[in-house]
Amino acid sequence: MKVLVVNAGSSSLKYQLFDTVSSDVLAKGICERIGIDGAITHKVPGREVYSADIKMENHTVATQILVETLCSPTLGVLKSMDEIEAVGHRIVHGGAYLKESVLVDDEVLKKLEGCLDLAPLHTAAHLMGIHGCIEAMPGKPQVLVIDTAFHSTMPPEAYTYALPKDMCEKYHIRRYGFHGTSHRYVSGEMIKILGKPAEDTKIVTCHLGNGSSISAVKGGKVIDTSMGFTPLDGFIMGSRCGAIDPAIVPFVMEKENMTPDQMNNFMNKNCGLLGVSGGLSSDCRNLGEAVEAGNADAKLAIDILCYQIKKYVGAYAAAMNGIDALVFTAGIGENRDEIRSAACKNMDYLGLKLDEEINAKTKLQGDNVCISTPDSKVKVYVIPTNEELVIARDTEMIVSGKR
Ligand code: ADP
Repeated sequence: MKVLVVNAGSSSLKYQLFDTVSSDVLAKGICERIGIDGAITHKVPGREVYSADIKMENHTVATQILVETLCSPTLGVLKSMDEIEAVGHRIVHGGAYLKESVLVDDEVLKKLEGCLDLAPLHTAAHLMGIHGCIEAMPGKPQVLVIDTAFHSTMPPEAYTYALPKDMCEKYHIRRYGFHGTSHRYVSGEMIKILGKPAEDTKIVTCHLGNGSSISAVKGGKVIDTSMGFTPLDGFIMGSRCGAIDPAIVPFVMEKENMTPDQMNNFMNKNCGLLGVSGGLSSDCRNLGEAVEAGNADAKLAIDILCYQIKKYVGAYAAAMNGIDALVFTAGIGENRDEIRSAACKNMDYLGLKLDEEINAKTKLQGDNVCISTPDSKVKVYVIPTNEELVIARDTEMIVSGKR
C-alpha cells in the first residue's frame, strides 16, 4: 500500500511517501513558510533534490502542492493521486482521549480538539494539516498515530504527580510521555534481536536528540518514561532544562519579572545544553568541538547529559529489577559515541560492558549495531529510529482492517 506520512507544524508540513510492502520511501520533502510565502524541498532517491518557492497561503494549498509534485510527470513518482491509498499523521499529544492509532472521523477530530489545551501549538498545527489533507484529498482515509500512545500503559505510580487528586483530574495533569512512536519502534526492533518472548524482556530506550527522553519498556510495554505532562520534563536537552527544583520557577519569574508564557519559553528555548554552555550551542557537534578546544562550560554541559542518562538507566534498572538491553537512538544516540561511552561507564553493577572499539566506529550506520561485548550481561545497541515507518505501517493496518 502507498501511504503518505504527514508531520504538520504551524508553518511547515513534512511528508514521506511509503510503499508499505517494501518499506521503501518513494519520495520525501517539506513544505515550509506556509502562510508566510512558501517553499517546497522534494527528494526522490537517486534524483537531484528539487526546491522551489511557491506561494502557500495555508496547509490546504501546501497539501495540494505536495500532491501535485508527487504526481508531476517530471518530479513525481505517482501517475495520479488515486495511488495514495491513505494518509498517516504524526500527532504529538493525544491527551487523555487518544491512546492508540485511530482512523479520523468527526468524533476523533473532536477528541483531538480536546488536546488543544495540553499542547496548543502542536495540536493546532496538526488540525490544520489534517483539514488540509481532507480538503486536498477528499475521501482519502486519514489515520492519527500518536506520540503519547505507547506510554499509555504506565501504571498510576509512574504517571501520577504528587499534586491534589482533584486538581490532576480537573486539568488532566499526569505524566504522558513523548517520542512514543520512536520508543515503540526501537524497543520493537530490540525485542526481535533478543529473540525471546516480548513478555520476558526488560529494555531501556534512550531517544537522544534536540529533545530527549528515556523509557523503561517491560514486557514490550512502557512502565515509565522521563518526559512528563509536557516534553520539558526529564533530563537536560538541547535548549530545555528538563526536571529542575520546581521552586526555581516562581523564584526566577519574580526576580526577572517574567510572565508564565515568558518563563515557559525561557525553559524551553534558553536552558539545557545551550544555557549551561553559556549560550555557546544547543548542538552536541559544536559542543564536542568546544570540549576538544578546552571549553569548560561545554564540557560541563556534556558531563551533565551523560550523568543524567546514567541516573535514568539506573533508576529504570531498579524499577524493572535489571535490564536485558539498553538502546540508543536519534541524532545524539546514533552518532555521538563519546556520549554513549561516558553514559555507560561504571555499569559493572549491571554486568554491562561496552565494546569501546565498535562503539567509536558506530555513527551514521543506518543499521542496528551491537556495541556491547559478547560477554556483557546487558546488550547495548544503536538502533536508528524510524517513526515515519511506524506511522505508515499503523496506517496500513488500520485502513486495511487488520487492526
Ligand atoms: P531532533 O530532536 O530535532 O529531531 P536530532 O535527533 O537530529 O534532533 O538530534 C540533534 C542532535 O544530534 C544534535 O545535538 C546533534 O549534534 C546531534 N547529531 C545529529 N546528527 C549528527 C551527526 N551526523 N553527527 C554527530 N552528531 C549529530
